[in-house]
Amino acid sequence: MMPIFLSAVPVLKKMEDAGFEAYFVGGSVRDFVLGKEVADVDIATSATPQEVKQIFPKTVDVGIEHGTVVVIWGKDTYEVTTFRTESEYIDFRRPAEVTFIRSLEEDLKRRDFTMNSMAMDKEGRLIDPFSGREAIQNKIIETVGSASERFHEDALRMMRAARFVSQLSFTVERNTYQALIENAPMLAKIAVERITAEFEKLLLGENRCPALKLLIDTGLYQYLPHLRENKAPLTKLLELELGSLSLIEMWTLLLYILGIKQEEAEVFLKQWKLPVKKIKAVKGILSWLRFRLQSAWSLESVYEAKLAQAIHAEKLYNTVKGQPAALSIEALKQLYDTLVIKDRQELKVGGYDLMEWEKRRGGLWVKEKLDSIEKAVLNGEVQNEKETIREWLYKCNQN
Ligand code: ATP
Ligand code: MG
Repeated sequence: MMPIFLSAVPVLKKMEDAGFEAYFVGGSVRDFVLGKEVADVDIATSATPQEVKQIFPKTVDVGIEHGTVVVIWGKDTYEVTTFRTESEYIDFRRPAEVTFIRSLEEDLKRRDFTMNSMAMDKEGRLIDPFSGREAIQNKIIETVGSASERFHEDALRMMRAARFVSQLSFTVERNTYQALIENAPMLAKIAVERITAEFEKLLLGENRCPALKLLIDTGLYQYLPHLRENKAPLTKLLELELGSLSLIEMWTLLLYILGIKQEEAEVFLKQWKLPVKKIKAVKGILSWLRFRLQSAWSLESVYEAKLAQAIHAEKLYNTVKGQPAALSIEALKQLYDTLVIKDRQELKVGGYDLMEWEKRRGGLWVKEKLDSIEKAVLNGEVQNEKETIREWLYKCNQN
């Protein structure tokens, strides 16, 4: 067993000693079987949340109504969730009520895909009633039970299928695929934030192009914010070599490919319920990408964009052009390195100097003069020294 599971074994033992069953479940078991690194382990138990709280002295109620209690164990924390079913669904979104049960198998049965429906005991033995291991060996995503029913119960599972295609490079089993097509419209019932969370994982996955293709081919894209009317441009995205683009770069590329205008970007991203900070970052990069498609970098533009934003834009420029980025990013960095100042703060002359020199009160003229000084310093027309700038200003027809 991997160390991350081993350190949780005492937690399972303690629950068993108290007379309950406890297992590792969910994504951690899937990733273990896949031979991938496991970030955190989930534990499922026959003990009710109250019983879990009696067993462990230190716990936190996080999602107690869903049966989850966080157990604090030394310096580690574990999410311990009571076996449950979610039989009744209201409006295809959320189970009307969670019923706690004592049977592991019933708990595994309500899980979305067979690869996610395995459990592992403290000895490292796999409990796999739905052949999740086989699905993993065959690199297949298939629902536990009737795909149509499972997607009808909770339409988010369709987005989860697509993001697992992206993350794991698996393919969707035939019946499950057919059910995606049939149930795609159900996605409209799901809260956008939950869709976005899955979509962002999809955008970051290694296999993102086939996952995007799946969204297009199954019709799921039609129920994603602002994509319905954009099938053709979306398809263009598949032709690009996306290499190592980051999340904000992927969002920016999406906006660019869809031909979203600068002033429409905010509305688009707000529909996806992205946080303000991310929206701002994407808008900035988008505008520099459009700049870059018109012109090469100059001292002034790289200064204004700042290095990080310029690199994002340059990566995307190369993606759009279908050319490798390494060299041009190196050149961009070198250009940035040659900047005499990286920020206006570094100018050796400020507004107060100008007012004193000219014995004038502040006003727009100060900003205008500082702008021209900044530009001259950047372009090497004058050295960034107070006296030199003063001489340059008043002895060389600068007024
Ligand atoms: P990740 O590695 O990205 O966390 P995960 O499979 O662990 O992937 P989680 O959202 O953490 O995803 O969910 C944990 C487990 O809960 C899943 O493996 C699955 O068994 C079950 N699960 C999660 N979401 C659903 C859902 N919508 N319907 C049914 N089961 C679900
Ligand atoms: Mg998980």
